[in-house]
Amino acid sequence: MINETMYQRGAESSVIREIFSYACARKAEIGADRVFDFSLGNPSVPAPDAVRESIEHSLAEVPSMALHGYTPAPGIPEVRAAVADSLNRRFGTTYTAADLFMTVGAAASVSCALHALVSPGEEVVVIAPFFPEYRVWIENAGATCVEALADPETFQLSIENIRAAITERTAAIIIDSPNNPTGAVYPREALEGLASLLEEENSHRAEPIYLISDEPYREITYGAEVPWVPSIYEHTVVCYSYSKSLSLPGERVGWVLVPNTMAGAPRVMPAVAGAARALGFVCAPALFQRVVADCVDEPSDVKAYRANRDELCRALDAAGYAYVQPDGAFYLWVRSLEPDAAAFCERARAYELLPVPSDSFGVPGWIRIGYCVAPEVIRGSIPAWQALAMEYADRR
Ligand code: PLP
Repeated sequence: MINETMYQRGAESSVIREIFSYACARKAEIGADRVFDFSLGNPSVPAPDAVRESIEHSLAEVPSMALHGYTPAPGIPEVRAAVADSLNRRFGTTYTAADLFMTVGAAASVSCALHALVSPGEEVVVIAPFFPEYRVWIENAGATCVEALADPETFQLSIENIRAAITERTAAIIIDSPNNPTGAVYPREALEGLASLLEEENSHRAEPIYLISDEPYREITYGAEVPWVPSIYEHTVVCYSYSKSLSLPGERVGWVLVPNTMAGAPRVMPAVAGAARALGFVCAPALFQRVVADCVDEPSDVKAYRANRDELCRALDAAGYAYVQPDGAFYLWVRSLEPDAAAFCERARAYELLPVPSDSFGVPGWIRIGYCVAPEVIRGSIPAWQALAMEYADRR
């Protein structure tokens, strides 16, 4: 019998994908340069040369069986050791290969972490607005997704709202900084505040509340510090991928880190391995695991994103839009010019502007502009953003 839940998941289309499909169809109709598609988080910066060099080197030097064969389920030991060494250099930690499990991207990292740390019937707190797939992954683990609103002005963590969202069934909290969709980066003091709250809660529990730090945008920042969360809160599992930092979203490679400094690590890491086994996510792509080892310290090129961000912010400032100051990731979180963000996005379509309404991220009244696009898209869209704002000004 077809699984009705899975059928619904597949049949319901994601709003982001729907807008992207509309953009493709519209480009075919009126020309690509006349449509301003800000829907997807697909990096617009090419993968660094070091990625191609690594692939060419592997193809030339590594025998086919080793190159294309199954790797151990958690990943190639040397690759995991290279990642651990890189983290140790950057964050002063003492991780080893045994602390890392290679995955098929952050989607698998977060899914494995959830299945490992959360039992059916428990609750997972997310910070709204949140990446919509979190709800799917949480519910797939048999748990309930509980929303804690971020601060409504700054979109930073609201410790009070998180406190109110925690119940005795709370097993984990997911945070995502630099944030999709707001671009906010959580400063050290905010994370320390969260750690204090969780430690206070843990003092009357048998098992701690785990923090799942989903960090695919860690390297995409414009100067803000992105603190190393396990150094602030012991019971943190880090989920990472190279989709954004090395512009490799189609290659599906990332990792879960269960720090050896976490008291529960001897049981958590086998649970992550068990979750990967149960979900069928073992053995991340072998060639790209090798790319990770070769490119582990490769810096992310954020110049183009910074230039896009700055140009877009200048244009939106001039047109009178309000937005959250983006310190990282490649999304701008802009206040909708009418309370119904979906209606606003519908109006924007008349100007060939295609942002995503905030309702899909769990809050009303905002839009997400993904500025990981060619600079011409930003430049070309500016008159349209101005005209859209004028239309609303004329209505008042
Ligand atoms: N988490 C967040 C916050 C994301 O924005 C994304 C992708 O956009 C993912 C996880 C999934 O990343 P990946 O493509 O590496 O699976």
